[in-house]
Amino acid sequence: SIPDGLPDYLIDLEIENIKNNVPIIRKGGQRLLRFMLAYKNPGNILEIGTATGFSALYMLNFVKNTTKITTIESLEERADKASGNFVKYDKLKQIRLLRGDALEILPELAAGGDSYDFVFMDAAKGQYINFLPSVKKLLAPKGILVSDNLLQEGRLLDSRYTVVRRERTIHSRMREYIKAVLADEEMETMLLEAGDGMSVSFRK
Ligand code: SAM
Repeated sequence: SIPDGLPDYLIDLEIENIKNNVPIIRKGGQRLLRFMLAYKNPGNILEIGTATGFSALYMLNFVKNTTKITTIESLEERADKASGNFVKYDKLKQIRLLRGDALEILPELAAGGDSYDFVFMDAAKGQYINFLPSVKKLLAPKGILVSDNLLQEGRLLDSRYTVVRRERTIHSRMREYIKAVLADEEMETMLLEAGDGMSVSFRK
């Protein structure tokens, strides 16, 4: 693989997550994040879907040391793991972990007047469409929204009838999300095949 100059602890974390079947951002998606972070130089990042903290710590490598990252995780066990990783590797305490369901937390953040210039959406795929109204409120003008897992290994491109029922529901909700961001007049969006299929939007 192409050396990307990541610190050893991140390489180890990536391997550990893959071994434990924790779904984390793939190489192509990592590059996209890194590119967008270098371009945007955000001061405030919001991540939906922490898992064990890999992507938050990855992002930390490509931002200034005054940048703050807020990240949300609903699974207790993963949040515990992430919290431990942040204690170890987020020396400047730039990361804030919020435990709970993003569906509840996002409206609270919006009501509190939070504003983010970079949002990375990487949680339960069927819920992206429900996160969108709050995320739009939280996104600063010219703020970037990156969503991962849009194509789910290309299967969203297949016929709707070749996937099982539960997946079909998630797929149709994901289609709804893709349609919604593409049609949204307050945002400009492009779709990419990087990672598991990603979208990059910015708020006009
Ligand atoms: N961003 C992580 C990375 O690349 O290292 C991977 C995140 S993983 C693909 C998605 C995570 O989102 C899971 O750990 C899952 O528990 C969490 N999640 C799913 N739905 C959620 C919700 N409604 N609120 C908060 N977290 C959620």
